[in-house]
Amino acid sequence: AKELGRNNFQFFSEDMNHSILEHLSLEKEINEAIARQQFSLVFQPKISLFDFGITGVETLIRWQHPEKGMITPDRFIPVAEETGQILEIGSWVLEQSCRQISSLIRSNVLPEHAKVAVNLSARQFTDPHLLQRIRSVLEITNIPPHCLELEITESTLMEDVESAIQIMQEIKKTGVAIAIDDFGTGYSSLAYIKRFPIDVLKVDRSFVMDIPEDKNDMAITAAVIAMAHKLSMTVVAEGVETQEQLQFLRQNNCDEGQGYLFSRPLSLGQLHQFLSENERL
Ligand code: C2E
Ligand code: CA
Ligand code: CA
Ligand code: CA
Repeated sequence: AKELGRNNFQFFSEDMNHSILEHLSLEKEINEAIARQQFSLVFQPKISLFDFGITGVETLIRWQHPEKGMITPDRFIPVAEETGQILEIGSWVLEQSCRQISSLIRSNVLPEHAKVAVNLSARQFTDPHLLQRIRSVLEITNIPPHCLELEITESTLMEDVESAIQIMQEIKKTGVAIAIDDFGTGYSSLAYIKRFPIDVLKVDRSFVMDIPEDKNDMAITAAVIAMAHKLSMTVVAEGVETQEQLQFLRQNNCDEGQGYLFSRPLSLGQLHQFLSENERL
């Protein structure tokens, strides 16, 4: 039996072995990161494509690991999602985002109508304590509900459509806005889109990336913007990097843009500076 066991072990590919081990050590390190406060937030401005004013910021998490340096969210969020650690991390992100934005609004650095958009993972979205958490964060940080926006990916919403609609309706009752993130990548049926109470639709970067070379992406992007407007949603284009993309998006009445053309994600200090330099932007 021992020998069989040893043989069986060979069925695991080198790769799989590696990823299981990496996964286990990441889980442990995420716990340490929570305890030792190695997480921080950066803020990426969202810009009005009509008057180029700042409409808000999206907060993005960063992990400064003492030995490994910066670990990107694409590597640890999926692990934290699987282990459930995302609930604790996400709760921290939500509260910190509201605290930091509240101070920027109070000191008149951000306009009063500016929104802070926070990413919500699938597990957070279906967490039964979510609403209570949202209400208490609004109360603690004293920000008006309309200043908070939750970004939920299209694929999260498609996991269980009926319960997603219910949760979204409950969120809407608190006055907090909902954005559908990475739109176009989650295979949603248009029949559902009209049933979701969505305020903002974010066109995924993969459609914006190859404008103006890819005529199909341009057709899809233009059609999505028109559809979203008919459904009374605000449209934000993700990953705007070039003047050509900006020009196309403006020609097609896209409301807002986010991307390196306007600004990379910024630390709080850098955001301060960006806002004072772009007062009439
Ligand atoms: P996302 O929500 O789609 O966020 C946009 C990502 O695109 C960010 O990557 C941002 O830095 C990057 N980006 C923005 N503009 C440009 C651009 O012009 N060009 C290019 N190439 N990239 C651009 P980031 O910060 O690495 O985050 C990756 C993903 O990790 C996010 O995708 C989101 O799904 C997840 N994430 C980040 N922070 C959080 C968080 O606090 N909670 C949860 N649940 N997920 C998070
Ligand atoms: Ca997002
Ligand atoms: Ca996105
Ligand atoms: Ca994404």
